[in-house]
Amino acid sequence: MKECDFLIIGAGMAGLTAATQLHGAGHRVVCVDKARGSGGRLSSKRVDLADITTSVDLGCPGFSATIPLFQAQVREWQAAGCVSVWHREHAEAMGQDATELFVGSPRSSSLTRYLANQVEIDFSQRITRLEYQGGRWYSYSGRPGTDDEEVCFSVSDAVILATPPRQAADLLPQEHPLQEALQSVEMIPQWVVILAVKGVVAAPERIRDTLRAQDPKASEGLTECIYDVTVDHQKPGRVNVPGFQLWQIQAHPDWSAENIDLSPDLVCRTVIRELEARLGMSLEIVSQIAHRWLYSLPPDQKLSSSQNWIAGERLGICGDYIQTDHRSGKSGVAGVESAYLSAADLVQKIKLQKSANFSDPS
Ligand SMILES: Cc1cc2nc3c(=O)[nH]c(=O)nc-3n(C[C@H](O)[C@H](O)[C@H](O)COP(=O)(O)OP(=O)(O)OC[C@H]3O[C@@H](n4cnc5c(N)ncnc54)[C@H](O)[C@@H]3O)c2cc1C
Repeated sequence: MKECDFLIIGAGMAGLTAATQLHGAGHRVVCVDKARGSGGRLSSKRVDLADITTSVDLGCPGFSATIPLFQAQVREWQAAGCVSVWHREHAEAMGQDATELFVGSPRSSSLTRYLANQVEIDFSQRITRLEYQGGRWYSYSGRPGTDDEEVCFSVSDAVILATPPRQAADLLPQEHPLQEALQSVEMIPQWVVILAVKGVVAAPERIRDTLRAQDPKASEGLTECIYDVTVDHQKPGRVNVPGFQLWQIQAHPDWSAENIDLSPDLVCRTVIRELEARLGMSLEIVSQIAHRWLYSLPPDQKLSSSQNWIAGERLGICGDYIQTDHRSGKSGVAGVESAYLSAADLVQKIKLQKSANFSDPS
């Protein structure tokens, strides 16, 4: 059983930001994730193509940095070699405020792996529930996909839930006051389809323009079914497999919500059919994957950060669904930047908590 000051559940951008900052402040931190590697929605998937092993980004294709605090952090990551600038045409084409996008390099998960290497972390551990007893938190885990009995995974002074809100609510003791607030945040689901296409079909800008021109009805996307297409190896640092293109197709969130229970195979077939019809050509697909993100994007109405730290119990929450005070343009910040800022805001509150009785790191 692990013993620590902070147990952090979730090794995505929010959890790893909290973990590295608290570790840097001298606290004993253990981070845990149910997946086999770091990243959460910033993860990548290994692909074998024509005897070459490469990878493709499975979630977020690229992120923006609009707030000085996050911009400074991104510059540090660039200097460390785990983040690169992606071409700006993409950001403009998607109507984002930012003029630049950033990506983990050489793959999306390189960024979270860089952070994960700085802290103690356990993968393939799904935390199943939490108990608060005698002023300490006990976490219990079981191995995903196995019949392992539940075991006590850790005892800690504090817990930070860095998972999507519904998953965080499920871990809390019954009738915990935070549960209702967490359950009220309806994350938006999204299908993502990865296609390995034989031959060099077209530049991504042309694919986008062709699709968009044909479906003027589609709001905020390329067609009613397809939200965006990214040719993965055009991002910096990616391995180019000669004669192939790796496409990441994000299904439209509205279409995804309506078709969330389709089989992955049917999702692939529908997306391929749509692409072929719109592009007016048949595609030679050598490999295909459909991934269902049940919690892809937060809703417009996020949870206020006033609820992100319960000092008495030493219980914190962070993630992209939490609204911090930062504003970018007319709206709040989005996605990865929002996940980072929510964790930084939480750590700031923890540091300011005078009555905190954590073991003194000095
Ligand atoms: C298809 C797609 C497109 C996107 N596009 C953009 C974009 O253009 N720009 C942008 O900024 N953002 C985008 N995003 C959103 C961005 O990826 C997220 O906002 C950000 O990565 C969220 O980080 P997080 O740490 O809050 O959560 P997550 O990355 O979801 O991390 C949560 C972690 O918790 C783990 N976990 C959950 N339950 C448990 C448990 N019981 N025990 C242990 N571990 C658990 C999960 O395995 C996961 O690793 C996109 C996301 C997707 C999926």
